[in-house]
Amino acid sequence: MIFDDLGLSNEVLKAVNDAGYTEPTPIQEKAIPHVLMGRDILGCAQTGTGKTASFTLPMIDILASGRARARMPRTLILEPTRELATQVAENFDVYGKYTSLAKALIIGGESMGEQVKILDRGVDVLIATPGRLLDLFDRGGMILNDVKILVIDEADRMLDMGFIPDVEKIVSLIPKIRQTLFFSATMPPEIKRLADVFLMNPREITVAPPATPAEKIAQSLVMIDHSNKRDMDGLAKKKRDALRKLIVEDKVRNALVFCNRKRDVDILHKSLVKHGHDAARLHGDLSQPARTETMNKFKAGEIAILVCSDVAARGLDIDDLSHVFNFDVPMHAEDYVHRIGRTGRAGRDGRAFTLAWREDRKYIDAIERLIGKPIPLLKSGKTNAAKETPRISPAEEATPDAEPEKIAAPVSEAPSSDAPVSEAPASEAPVSEVTASEAPVSEAPASEAPASEAPKRRAKPKAARKSQQDAKEEAAPGKPVTGMGDHMPAFLANPVKS
Ligand code: AMP
Repeated sequence: MIFDDLGLSNEVLKAVNDAGYTEPTPIQEKAIPHVLMGRDILGCAQTGTGKTASFTLPMIDILASGRARARMPRTLILEPTRELATQVAENFDVYGKYTSLAKALIIGGESMGEQVKILDRGVDVLIATPGRLLDLFDRGGMILNDVKILVIDEADRMLDMGFIPDVEKIVSLIPKIRQTLFFSATMPPEIKRLADVFLMNPREITVAPPATPAEKIAQSLVMIDHSNKRDMDGLAKKKRDALRKLIVEDKVRNALVFCNRKRDVDILHKSLVKHGHDAARLHGDLSQPARTETMNKFKAGEIAILVCSDVAARGLDIDDLSHVFNFDVPMHAEDYVHRIGRTGRAGRDGRAFTLAWREDRKYIDAIERLIGKPIPLLKSGKTNAAKETPRISPAEEATPDAEPEKIAAPVSEAPSSDAPVSEAPASEAPVSEVTASEAPVSEAPASEAPASEAPKRRAKPKAARKSQQDAKEEAAPGKPVTGMGDHMPAFLANPVKS
């Protein structure tokens, strides 16, 4: 199929052609004609599938008729993070270049005054993160009565981040008669129930299940030799040593390094810089201008290594990324696919290394089940032939990590084998060792929320973190997993449609 067959206008087709796209991706092929017909969409698709264009292209054409009124946006796109919201806004610029649509980006960390001014002029498309949108709404900055198309993007990530109550509230402020486009990389029961409530007779579209990392990505598992469960600092130190070796020996041109916790992003970034690496960091506690500047520098090749968290890097689209490192094994198997999918794009080769130790076995098993094959174990000696020459003295190094500088042998000395690592049985995985303050994954809210935000909203992510923690702590049977903090919306009691 070609783009001309989808029913899009000449203006949009011209912009698509300028973008260099020759044919629609599967989700574009399946979604665009239905969106143009006014159908609701339930799309199971991840970033990287061309999902954004599958809703922006037809929206541009639908919006061609009609005019925006002051403070009354005609369409609303909800995104879980500022980065994703910004990327969607950029998509509108690219695909809408031959039309004259007005758009506003309402995200935390940017001046609210400016955002209100843009809304005052009237916008066709409002792209927002839920927290900031509600803030602005509560202050009387906008009226949502005129929204005719609602897009809820990355719904599963919204759930992870504790945004679902906010999303529900926003949906209650929008007319019931509307077109709703709902996307999620995964469809857990909570998301399915939510979709049942928000959508009317949707066209269901599933593309490229997230269990298919690009064939061009060479994946390796690096087992770190460590056994003392109480010495987590020692483990982190060994991992940092292993990472630096890999960076040098695998001739890394540019890389994303993922940590599970914001705190570890900071520590690792500091350590890499101390060792003379050209590194920056990205996570949700940094100010929006700092995040934007870092991202732009990384995309422009001015920074080689970006240490980041999942949420901050979700959907980051970098053309030519040579490496992805999982400094921590992700706790959600889907995140593994998202992370390594940042490399090996557009048919290029990519390398993905995952640093793990015996207690990560449970998560590795889940990942291997999802991708349908074992992650090959990096054989001893393959990449640690040359010793990295520290560019600074060991004495200096001691500072960031507050640990004595001793060279640990990071990469497992396991005998050559393609068999998956047979370390501790899954049941021994000490998930419960993760303390509340270290709770991983959940991210944006503290920073997403402007300084003035009421504590009520800031409290939600904590609840979300707690519930994720609960879900992982299988050692605590009987504990309910809500995924929504204290909030228990009525629709959760609805049966899931088959
Ligand atoms: P997304 O899934 O929306 O994050 O898109 C991932 C990447 O695919 C972006 O860099 C888009 O510019 C690109 N893309 C979207 N549609 C197409 C297409 N039809 N052909 C080639 N690239 C595309």
